[in-house]
Amino acid sequence: MIVFDVQCESGHVFEGWFSSNDAFEGQRKAGVVACPVCGSAKVEKALMAPNVTPKKGLSPSEEKKAAEQAMKTLVKMRKAVEENCDYVGGEFAEEARKIHYGETESRNIYGEASGEEAEALTEEGIDFTQIPWVPNADN
Ligand SMILES: [Zn+2]
Repeated sequence: MIVFDVQCESGHVFEGWFSSNDAFEGQRKAGVVACPVCGSAKVEKALMAPNVTPKKGLSPSEEKKAAEQAMKTLVKMRKAVEENCDYVGGEFAEEARKIHYGETESRNIYGEASGEEAEALTEEGIDFTQIPWVPNADN
């Protein structure tokens, strides 16, 4: 069964249930689809109003999807970092500083830094990025 909004020549709109689009056309042509308001059999499918419902934020399922997408991106970032950078653990700030001042070989590193350490690095103009460290997808 399919349901249409049907409109008569006087502009009355009503719901019509039909087994198919062809069934509707057949019944319409046979004049058996009558308006319940005025009885007119001159009816046609009402034009569907375009969906103009304003977006009121994301639905819960959309939100879940967006969160999953963001998580996937972070997992990818983590992977890229792990594959391309040396892990220096808690020595991150120190190592970043050494690299910045040319005291050790220049390379990409990653590790942990406290908020204070990160702030100090920023003040010294040392280039680094903080990313949310997500658990590995395999874990
Ligand atoms: Zn009517």
